Amino acid sequence: MTTTSDVNRRAAELRELINHHSYLYYVLDNPEVSDAEYDALMQELKDLETEHPELVTPDSPTQRIGAAPVTAFGVVEHPQPLLSLSNAFSYEELCAWYHRVSEFLAGQQFDLVCEPKIDGLAVALTYVDRVLVTGATRGDGYRGENITQNVRTIGSIPLSVPREAPGKFEVRGEVYLPKSGFKRLNEERVRKGLHPFANPRNAAAGSLRQLDSRVTAERPLDIFVYGLGWAEDGTVPGTHWEIMHWLKSLGFKINPGIARYQDLDGVEEYYCNWRDNRESWPYEVDGVVVKVDSIAFQQELGAAAREPRWAIACKFPAVQGTTRLVDIGVNVGRTGRLNPYAILEPVRIGGVTISHAALHNEEDIHRKDIRIGDTVVVQRAGEVIPEIVGPVASKRTGEEKVFFMPQQCPVCGAEIIKPEGMAMHMCSNAACPSQALEKIRHFVSRGAMDIDGVGDKLCQALFNQGIVADAGDLYYLNREKLLEMDRMADKSVSHILDSIEKSKDRPLSRLIFGLGIIHVGEEYAELLAGKFTSIDALANASQEELMTLPSTGPKIAQSIIAFFRQEGNRSIIQKLRDAGVKMEEKKDTAEFERMTLAGKEFVLTGKLDSLSRYEAEARIRERGGKASSSVTKKTSYVVVGADPGSKLARARQLGVEVVNEEQFLNLLGQEGIKP
Ligand code: NAD
Repeated sequence: MTTTSDVNRRAAELRELINHHSYLYYVLDNPEVSDAEYDALMQELKDLETEHPELVTPDSPTQRIGAAPVTAFGVVEHPQPLLSLSNAFSYEELCAWYHRVSEFLAGQQFDLVCEPKIDGLAVALTYVDRVLVTGATRGDGYRGENITQNVRTIGSIPLSVPREAPGKFEVRGEVYLPKSGFKRLNEERVRKGLHPFANPRNAAAGSLRQLDSRVTAERPLDIFVYGLGWAEDGTVPGTHWEIMHWLKSLGFKINPGIARYQDLDGVEEYYCNWRDNRESWPYEVDGVVVKVDSIAFQQELGAAAREPRWAIACKFPAVQGTTRLVDIGVNVGRTGRLNPYAILEPVRIGGVTISHAALHNEEDIHRKDIRIGDTVVVQRAGEVIPEIVGPVASKRTGEEKVFFMPQQCPVCGAEIIKPEGMAMHMCSNAACPSQALEKIRHFVSRGAMDIDGVGDKLCQALFNQGIVADAGDLYYLNREKLLEMDRMADKSVSHILDSIEKSKDRPLSRLIFGLGIIHVGEEYAELLAGKFTSIDALANASQEELMTLPSTGPKIAQSIIAFFRQEGNRSIIQKLRDAGVKMEEKKDTAEFERMTLAGKEFVLTGKLDSLSRYEAEARIRERGGKASSSVTKKTSYVVVGADPGSKLARARQLGVEVVNEEQFLNLLGQEGIKP
């Protein structure tokens, strides 16, 4: 049985918890629980207070708006309080509000205006004699922070208004950070070793509540104005709908999604539309605000405690929650890529229980400083796999562990490598069961061994039935085995066997490419075939030998070495060899020797005397080089002729080597600078 002292204790506990979270959210812009969790605590306290009205104290969080202003900004008294909004989490709650309003207005007909509830922070902008004089936060509803300098940096807030505006008035709106700006800001923070903001609302608040307005000016903040606070010396329209359009005519930015309805049917449709399309808007919307249109009715309805009776926020299902990251698992994708994923203590977010979330790669996990054992913020976005936004560092105990990718494949035990310039880790074994099918598909594809008739579906069927476990097995297929496959006629079997036979004689470069060595593309495979002339020579090449090739750094060399070191890969090669697949090429070494510009990228600027632009580019390609049109860090040489353009300056800026026509001709003629 619950005793009075139990109830008292729980109410006190809830007040303390809510106050703690309000402080983190409103003052520090750094919450450690999700909005849904905060709302649940608040609801529990409200329910307790409804059941035991004697528990309601004036300082109870249920009676208060936001948090006291931080005095360092300077404090602004609001002539009319900036209230909060009551919430509806279901259609039934919206209907209950509508009936209360109808009853209050004694059955008089009223219209409703709907607007998206932008997830940012409230500001009050005061204009005196047509000029913006004060910008303030909501604070505790009665006293806010003076952030005038900061709001002035927001381009969409007018600094002055036309003559027809009242002499003195206050406009209210929501300052927000668009999703793209939020993403950029968080990437920058993570790069600087700071924790990312949990959501655009906190990021917007953190950006606007800056003591140095230069910081605010750098953030792409924007505003949607959603109402008039008060006005003096002038006339204003009599409905919210008209006020909004009048504000627009004065130069304020209102949300174009505003709509007016006569009953709840329209409101419900409006709500569903915004809820279902929330992903597509460039800013975060966490619900829909429904307001009684007539200002006279609004005044009649008034406010109760911290919320006006004439408006309600219909919240969307939550998208974020916090929970514990129990462990990080790793699975191996079809291409051999290692995918880390979060194993979470199950948490309900927006009505769905979540126990796993995506993590991109080791670098990302380290950048976000996510550790095993952390309390983490988890986010659901539509049907997309939930992801971890970041850790709640303040909840750390010191027991958390930094995660590192395994050094051996969790599926086959093979060596794991990290290709150069990529954030992901890969299993180096082409025979690894989790990537074998993808490797077989690659092997038969056009640019590789080009085995006509063996398409994606047949690969899949052969693999699933255990007939072909790797590319080597393709060469041991026979008529009987193929005829057993679904919908396989005699004629197509003959065609397939014929294509397989033909593929045995493909150039060595195709075979090298077909093996699917990480980082070895079609062109690079040609280079390898030209240099090594046989699979065995390539398999035995040392790192030093490989690195004599153009564009070959230690990581590519290591990837090749790791490939041939794998027992599974060696056995595929043996099967191919035994089946009679060509493993070497009596090469035209002269051809390889001609490729003096392989791996080099050229950009031409200005006019050359001896060659047209077209001829020059063709000569570069003949020698294995690449001709590009823009200068980047990857450019090897910028060739300068008469009247060069801005590419020359760009080359100097990036420190790219610049050559004149004579030097260029030397390069083409294998003299001078050796590539
Ligand atoms: P609220 O944010 O739910 O609603 C009121 C606010 O909505 C207004 O002040 C205004 O800024 C905004 N708004 C946006 N669009 C509007 C529009 N078209 N018309 C009118 N107002 C519009 O209420 P609140 O009191 O500011 O804050 C409560 C919210 O903050 C809750 O959702 C709660 O979960 C969250 N919160 C979270 C934590 C936490 O720790 N996670 C702590 C405190 C509060």
